[in-house]
Amino acid sequence: MSLKKSRRFWNTLAFRLTLWYAGIFTVSSCIAFLLFYMLITSVIREGTDQELLSQVRQFSTILKARGLDAVESYVFLEAQAAGVKKVFFRLLYLSGYAFSSSNMSYWEDIGVRKRAIEQLLQGDSHVFDTVVLRDRQDQVRILYALIGPGVILQVGQSMENQSRIIEAFKRIFMTTMALLIGLAAGVGWFMARRAVSGVEAITRTAQSISGGTLGKRVPFKTQGDEIDQLAMTFNQMLDRIQALVTEIKEMSDNIAHDLKSPVTRIRGIAEVTLTHEKSIGEYGSMAASTIEECDRLLDMIDTMLMISKTESGVDQLPNGEIDLAGLIRGACELFEPAAEDKGVTLRYDVPDKRPFVGGNRMIQRMFSNLLDNAIKYTPPGGAVSVSLSENDKSDIAITVKDTGIGISPDDLPRIFDRFYRCDQSRSEPGIGLGLSLARAIARAHGGDITVTSRLHQGSIFTLTLPTRKSLSRSSLPA
Ligand code: ADP
Repeated sequence: MSLKKSRRFWNTLAFRLTLWYAGIFTVSSCIAFLLFYMLITSVIREGTDQELLSQVRQFSTILKARGLDAVESYVFLEAQAAGVKKVFFRLLYLSGYAFSSSNMSYWEDIGVRKRAIEQLLQGDSHVFDTVVLRDRQDQVRILYALIGPGVILQVGQSMENQSRIIEAFKRIFMTTMALLIGLAAGVGWFMARRAVSGVEAITRTAQSISGGTLGKRVPFKTQGDEIDQLAMTFNQMLDRIQALVTEIKEMSDNIAHDLKSPVTRIRGIAEVTLTHEKSIGEYGSMAASTIEECDRLLDMIDTMLMISKTESGVDQLPNGEIDLAGLIRGACELFEPAAEDKGVTLRYDVPDKRPFVGGNRMIQRMFSNLLDNAIKYTPPGGAVSVSLSENDKSDIAITVKDTGIGISPDDLPRIFDRFYRCDQSRSEPGIGLGLSLARAIARAHGGDITVTSRLHQGSIFTLTLPTRKSLSRSSLPA
């Protein structure tokens, strides 16, 4: 493994999680062992102490019943029976002088502790002591006790067996611990890998996306854990980004296409002017056509800028008081001749006055777009009707209903996108920006435009404007 790779490995979340897991496991096991060790040693010591005390009681009874000689011979016999390397007995006067004992060849290093004798003289019934002999690892537990008037018994017992048990316990613990820590590290590594594998999948997908493949998605299971939720959120974000990128791409394709046609026409006119000799009148009409094309281009660019500004709120909305009903009626009257020429009946049902606070020219443009579309996409013999009403919440609803070509369910969600035009309406003039602008203006006024439509039967565009933007009827000058 190269240095860079190994550094990356030590820094991985999986490695650190494993380390934490194994570390916590080791510390808690050591604490458990320590507690267990203390418990075992105290139980063993307690057992030894009880044994020594029961011997003291035995000696005391013998002394009382059969006298000092019997005790002396019992001392000898008892040490022989238990093993001279296991126990020893000493009989002492109150001065600490030993007047009798068992075979002490193995225990000659053990003396009499003055402090223990003093404690007995001060009234303690017995005194325990623990001694470690030089060159021997095992401890010796010693008990001093008064067994009769003027007679002290010093009894000692090797704790060799207990040490052996504790040593065995230590060995077993060390081996088990080594195995368990290895197992804990293995399990920890496995669990950590499982936990971070989802994050790695997301990283891989993000990397391949930054490499250019926006269509990739993170695979996820259906367990619904945190990683799955992260993956789902990440995928949703990618869906949204992909949709936006597609939208931007389509829009730029449309802009390029819509700009190309007038520019090509202008170029054609200029080419004809250069290559063919024309009369002054013809040159005049060519110049007029060029101006017309340029105006169309400028109109398109202006509309695009206006949509952007309205959507981003760069232009502060003019907050003048307007008569919405008068504005709608005026626009209908303006479009009446065009509708008549086309053979479309235009009806409008608008109250005398309806005050509203908003941008006069903007609202005019928004409504004109809707009315223009209704007449444009309604074949001769059809009808367009306009109405202004107030709904339950007193919001203003302006409806533009036509019996025209209608919009298919597939096109319906997209007609408000910039430059979007339905196939069946391509024979009519237009650039596909009217509805985008209309909706942007409606939303800038706190309202919206909705549409219902049936192909070949007609459409209903409803523009709602909130009352908080409108004024009471009385506030408008008559
Ligand atoms: P355009 O300049 O093409 O009219 P719009 O943004 O105003 O652009 O409208 C977008 C598209 O929505 C139109 O091209 C047309 O296909 C469809 N559309 C809008 N209004 C109507 C309507 N009243 N009836 C049928 N189709 C409509």
